[in-house]
This record gives sequence, C-alpha cells and structure tokens, in this order.
Amino acid sequence: MKVLVVNCGSSSLKYQLIDSETEQALAVGLCERIGIDGRLKHTPAGGDKVVLEDALPNHEVAIKNVLAALTNPTYGVIKDLSEIGAVGHRVVHGGEKFTKSVLIDDAVIAGIKECCDLAPLHNPANLIGIDACMKLMPGVPEVAVFDTAFHQTMPKEAYLYAVPYEYYTNYGVRRYGFHGTSHSYVSKRAIAVAGLDANNSKVVVCHLGNGASCSAVLNGRSVDTSMGLTPLEGLIMGTRSGDIDPAVIEFVAKKENKSLSEMMTVLNKKSGVDGISGVGSDFRDLDAAAKEGNERAQVAVEAFAYRVAKYVGAYTAAMNGVDAIAFTAGIGENDGKVRKKICDRLGFLGITIDDAKNAIRGEEVIISTPDSKVKVMVIPTNEELAICRETVALI
Ligand code: AMP
Repeated sequence: MKVLVVNCGSSSLKYQLIDSETEQALAVGLCERIGIDGRLKHTPAGGDKVVLEDALPNHEVAIKNVLAALTNPTYGVIKDLSEIGAVGHRVVHGGEKFTKSVLIDDAVIAGIKECCDLAPLHNPANLIGIDACMKLMPGVPEVAVFDTAFHQTMPKEAYLYAVPYEYYTNYGVRRYGFHGTSHSYVSKRAIAVAGLDANNSKVVVCHLGNGASCSAVLNGRSVDTSMGLTPLEGLIMGTRSGDIDPAVIEFVAKKENKSLSEMMTVLNKKSGVDGISGVGSDFRDLDAAAKEGNERAQVAVEAFAYRVAKYVGAYTAAMNGVDAIAFTAGIGENDGKVRKKICDRLGFLGITIDDAKNAIRGEEVIISTPDSKVKVMVIPTNEELAICRETVALI
C-alpha cells in the first residue's frame, strides 16, 4: 500500500509517499513559507529535486499542490490519487487522551482540538492538515500518530511536577515528553541491534537534533524523558534553553523590562547553544568556530555534551542500570565528536568507544568496543517510516 505521511508545522508541511511493502520512500518533499508566499520542494526517488514557487496561501492549497506534484506526469510517482491507500499524520500533542496512534474520526478530531491548549502552535496546524486531506481525498483512511503517545507509560513520579496538585488535575500541567515516534522507533531498533530481550532491556535513547531529548526505555516502555509540558525542558538544544531555574525568568524580565511572552521567546528561540555561543545553532558552525578558538562556541558544545551525559546518568539510575545507549537525529547521527565527548563522561559505566566505528556515518552501527559494558550505537531515526508502519497497522 502507498501511504502519504504528512507532518504539518505552522508554516511548513513535510511529506513522504512510502510504499509500505518495500518501506521505500517514493517521493519526499517540503512546503515552506505557507501563508507567506510559498515554495514546494519535491524529490521523486532516484530523481532530481523540483522547486515550485507557486503561492501557498494556506495548508489546503499546500496539500493540493503536493498531490498535484505526486501525480505530475514528469516528476510525479503515481498516476492517480486512488493509489494512495492511507494518510498518516504526525500530531504533536495528544495530552493524556491519546496513548497510542488512532484512526481519525470526529471524536479524534475533537480530542486533538482539546489538546490545542497544550500545543497552541502545533496542534492547530496538524488539524488543518487533517481537514485538508479529508477534503481532497474523501474516504481515504487517516491516522494520527502522536509525538507524546510513547511517553504515556511514564510513572506518576516521573511525570508530576512538584507544584500544587490542582495544576495537574485542573489544567493537565505535567510532563508529557515529545519525539515519541523517534524514541519508540530507535529504542526498538537498539534492542534488535544490541541483541537484547525486549522484555528485559534497559535502553537510553539520545535524540540529538535541533530539538533534543533523552528517554529511558525499560523493557520497551518509556519510563522517563527529558522534555516536559512543552519541548522546552531538558537538554540544551539549538535555540532552546532546556532546564533552567524558573526564577531566571522574573529576574531577567525585570532587568530588561520584558513581558512573559517575550521571555518565553528568548528561552525558545534565542537560547541553547545559539545563546551561549552567539555563533548559531548548527553544530557544523559551532565546530568551525570552536576550531578557530572561539571560546563561547567551545563551551556551548561542552555544555551540550555535559547535559546529555547528566541525563544518561540520571536515566541509568531511573532504570537501575543500562544495557544500550542509542544516538539519533542530526547531531546524534552525524557528529562523532559530540558523541565521543558525551561517552568520555560516561567512563564510570564501563563504556569505551571504538574511534573507527564512531567515524562511520549514515548507518546503524555499534560504536562501542566489544568489551564495553554498555553497547553504544548510532541508529538513524526514521519518523516517517514509523508513522507509515503505525498507519498500516491501524487500517
Ligand atoms: P535535526 O533537527 O534532527 O534535523 O538536526 C539538525 C541539526 O543537526 C543541525 O542543526 C546541526 O546542528 C546538526 N547536524 C546536521 N548535520 C550535521 C553534521 N554533518 N555534523 C554535525 N552536526 C550536524
């Protein structure tokens, strides 16, 4: 079956058409600047990227143009829309309502709407994408795959904040965690690659991209993760602060006469390694600056690695041990230097890294030495394929 995987952001839309039998992407693409001007980048498998500059005033037009690109006689990959058997949507927040992926119906749409409060930038965009696909492909089954669902197995002691309990019962203030599709996919692959028994396994997944999070996966179930009510908590990220003393907000707001929402923008968009370094959020730029002797870039990378190592240590305690550590996403998959920095801080776990293996890129590989007490590996994440699999399983 051919499955269209859709990931709607507030002004962007990523898509892949995947053949579920071969698990190969037939086409991948991205609509950018939706509601501003619009650009569609479409790449058929084995073909050249096509860039279409048609206006994209809203997500419905974006999806219409994606479907037109997929069926285009020159660069399309299907003859007719009827070849699309199902649509899988990435939905950011499922609150406590959604503990797994679901087939979308009116009740599910209402449930996703109820969670908009928790993800005001993302869930409304996801709903627009769902609505547009329903209009343009009536009768085609659609599935919602939630970023939060995998972490719904966290125990209460891991997900509660130590604030008045009524904030939890009245407003749902608790830790939810994100990147769930990636943590689920990578932890399963890690168990397979390490040759572990899924029912007797302790895995830490380090999803290190522009957004970054760690998870503790005990016997295949998430028991803790570093992001919280929102994706701001936890690791130091590209532009997000991760954990800070909440008192910093009032302190700086008073000094700089900033509003609460301006402070949140600072913590989400102007902090992280970008904030520390002043160079940027991309680790390739940080690496280049650090090599030239830029001390703020050097300390930004060091602080990033230190925070990851601290979380790995914490999650080893949470699971009373660790069998495997898996690195994934842009930095986790590509930056061997950062992986090495993190692992060097974990020598107390009996971890040793094989430098030649650590230099391999773009494939699943165990980077620890055979005598390392913990298997450390790189597992390229594939959220689209995971969404495709969930979609097919549900229909
Ligand atoms: P993601 O959010 O998973 O797409 O990751 C994006 C981030 O990965 C970028 O901002 C970079 O910091 C990092 N990244 C991507 N490619 C490389 C690379 N070759 N070396 C180091 N970092 C990389």
